[in-house]
Amino acid sequence: MIESYLSDESGVEGQATGIAFPKSIEELQETVKKAAEKKEKITIQSGRTGFCGGAVPQDSFIINMSKMNHAGEIIFDAEKRTGEITVGAGFTLANLNTIIDTYNRKAPIKLQFYPNPSETEATLGGIAATAACGSAIGPGIKGAVKSIVLVDARGGIQSIKNNSSSSLCSSPYSSLSTSFSSSPLRGEARWGADVIIGSEGTLGIIAELTLLLTAAPPCTYGLFAFFDTYQNALQFYTEYKHYLSTNTAILLNVADWFDLSCNDRVAGFPQFPENTALALWLEIAGEEDVLLDSLETAMTLLDKTIPTLADKTLAATEETDLKRLKTFRHQLTEDANQKQMKTIDYVITKDFLVKNEDILQQLRASAPPRELFFMGHLETNILNIRYNQDSLPLSFKDNPVSHEHGIGQAKRSLFLQNNPEEAAMWTALKKVVDSDGLLNPGVLI
Ligand SMILES: Cc1cc2nc3c(=O)[nH]c(=O)nc-3n(C[C@H](O)[C@H](O)[C@H](O)COP(=O)(O)OP(=O)(O)OC[C@H]3O[C@@H](n4cnc5c(N)ncnc54)[C@H](O)[C@@H]3O)c2cc1C
Repeated sequence: MIESYLSDESGVEGQATGIAFPKSIEELQETVKKAAEKKEKITIQSGRTGFCGGAVPQDSFIINMSKMNHAGEIIFDAEKRTGEITVGAGFTLANLNTIIDTYNRKAPIKLQFYPNPSETEATLGGIAATAACGSAIGPGIKGAVKSIVLVDARGGIQSIKNNSSSSLCSSPYSSLSTSFSSSPLRGEARWGADVIIGSEGTLGIIAELTLLLTAAPPCTYGLFAFFDTYQNALQFYTEYKHYLSTNTAILLNVADWFDLSCNDRVAGFPQFPENTALALWLEIAGEEDVLLDSLETAMTLLDKTIPTLADKTLAATEETDLKRLKTFRHQLTEDANQKQMKTIDYVITKDFLVKNEDILQQLRASAPPRELFFMGHLETNILNIRYNQDSLPLSFKDNPVSHEHGIGQAKRSLFLQNNPEEAAMWTALKKVVDSDGLLNPGVLI
């Protein structure tokens, strides 16, 4: 039975000394205490949807969180127009969406949980551990978690709340925020969970989370536009964003780009017309009438920027069309995972895309068709490359490795090489709370 738990979506395989499926926080604490007494290393796993090998054991004991899947009721705060719900770390995004959908059928104000790594079998614990947000623009998962119950490397329990740093006092985690905020790389940590979220299980095991649900926008539209150069795509985007910034009634939810190398990879993905270098996918949200105006403005700008391709633009104003576009994006990743393509995510700037058009062309040409493709998020400045070769033919040594999809084991060596200061910071934090290095060996640092 344990054989089924020795890998994740990356296809990386490991070995385990045993496995436990705690059903409650107390059981989880007991399991960790026993392992800690023996100084046995622990690998935490949940949905195993990650594709960086973070949930793959390294001769370690697996704690599988999938049975910690309890959920409370949605509590609505009428004044703030927000909701909250407490769930076990093993609760899946699919189950959360079902609860929210059921609630929304009767509620006057519809709610949403906005981080969306698109894989709904991912758990809330796994999403928080890897800080997975997918395409969603916004404050990220850090802004969508109100509090966390954490089990530390010795089996102790820590309750970390968003609105009170006092909850951190007298816990070993109290010093983490301070060390974290003094790092030039990570900015200011507002609360303890800023440190835990994205630490990939190296600093503690997330046992339970209270999530923030925000008011869902009344309407969402999508736009899938084609461009002949990255320069033109960025010119359009800059002008369109400027227009959006003058209209506070419209929210930009998604700004993803797909290189030509994504074309023809999955059935149903919009076909790139001739002379296309990339496609931009934007999702905007607000009241229907302002969105219609905004689409018209987008079309006018597209006509001006790239008249030969503007009429090929796909606009999704119906829920079904929007879902189809989201599905295609998800399938690109799903298909790459099934083919066990490697992944690397870099932090880039928008400028990088314009200045390095030749490098992007080289990257595209560096592998036979279908052996490599790349895409990215414009607002979070991510370049995601999926490939089949042993290593990438081009080196991006000046670009930090991004935490998108997690660092895990697969991206670790490149992370240590490209992000040395950040890696040193994580190592220092780990020493504070897990000096024996028991949690998630070989992951992140
Ligand atoms: C088709 C597809 C699309 C995806 N798209 C995106 C995307 O757009 N953006 C993105 O960021 N990710 C994406 N992912 C990756 C994946 O969904 C996320 O990394 C996910 O959040 C992991 O959740 P999980 O429950 O499956 O965790 P696992 O895969 O089981 O674990 C992931 C990591 O988190 C740690 N971990 C898990 N649970 C806990 C816990 N309770 N406490 C502490 N540590 C824990 C594990 O040790 C491991 O290091 C995608 C995956 C798939 C399959």
